[in-house]
Amino acid sequence: HNARKSNHHYQIYDRLLDFYTIERLHLVNSLKSAFTENQLVLYYQPKLDLRASKITSVEALVRWLHPVNGLIPPDTFIPIAEQTGQMNALTKWVIEEAANQYTKWQKDDINLSIAINISAEDLRNDELITFLLALKNAKKLPDEAIALEVTENAVLSDPKLAIKLLARLQKSGFRISIDDYGTGYSSLEQLKILPVDELKIDKSFVQNLMMDKDDQTIVDSTISLAHNMNLSVVAEGVEDLETLAWLQARHCQYAQGYYVSRPLPAEKLTSWLPSFEGLKIKEKCHD
Ligand code: C2E
Ligand code: MG
Ligand code: MG
Ligand code: MG
Repeated sequence: HNARKSNHHYQIYDRLLDFYTIERLHLVNSLKSAFTENQLVLYYQPKLDLRASKITSVEALVRWLHPVNGLIPPDTFIPIAEQTGQMNALTKWVIEEAANQYTKWQKDDINLSIAINISAEDLRNDELITFLLALKNAKKLPDEAIALEVTENAVLSDPKLAIKLLARLQKSGFRISIDDYGTGYSSLEQLKILPVDELKIDKSFVQNLMMDKDDQTIVDSTISLAHNMNLSVVAEGVEDLETLAWLQARHCQYAQGYYVSRPLPAEKLTSWLPSFEGLKIKEKCHD
């Protein structure tokens, strides 16, 4: 019994060590100044409408331009923001930045709706919703301006509350996507009760689609599931034309991935848009 107890202590100690590495402490401290020193930046990855061969929306993906460490990807600092109580501030910053970008693009006659990723932390209370609704009113944003992406796992800690909050957001006009669909712990039963408009099939099923029969079965079934539930469906992680054509032939509505474009800073995306030869992709796919 004693051995088990001390074992348990070791585990906690290990985890603490893991948590408090010098590098990590450094990031935790400097993340605070990331906000004040304008070191956060949003990149935008287009979502291709496969039916119209048009870019109608983008996903906002945050990066941290660290003065010493360079461009830090979100997978590195979002967990830190979550564990140190800074997620709320981060999400609010992302929302405001995206809303400003939406308005800027509108002024230039560029119609792009922007999807934002929200985390489990954002669904623990109604702060985010209050903030989003106030911002939508203040900036007079139409419903299509901002969409929300949430993973199945983000809903799991308090499903009742999360579902209530998401339902309120959906009622207020925000489209809700399930991100990384197929990798979470949620059941089909949960899909039935979640307020959701769109499924985003996780890139792990899409990246090797042409080489993996099982992935093909999974993606094909998920597209059908989405269609039959009246949800729109996006495949993320599309890295080649063959995959794009395969998805189009199966009436997957949207494709996102490096084959279409990597995430880009706003100005780069703006200049890339006219050069995007949507029609060519369409023609190639029908060959
Ligand atoms: P996600 O929301 O599933 O975003 C898709 C990720 O896949 C992005 O990574 C994107 O750059 C990458 N990706 C897109 N197309 C391809 C492709 O064809 N191949 C491959 N290999 N990867 C592709 P990124 O930008 O590093 O973001 C990683 C994750 O960090 C996101 O996954 C999301 O969960 C989280 N994240 C990013 N920005 C935010 C944010 O503002 N707030 C929150 N809460 N989470 C964010
Ligand atoms: Mg996403
Ligand atoms: Mg995803
Ligand atoms: Mg992901």
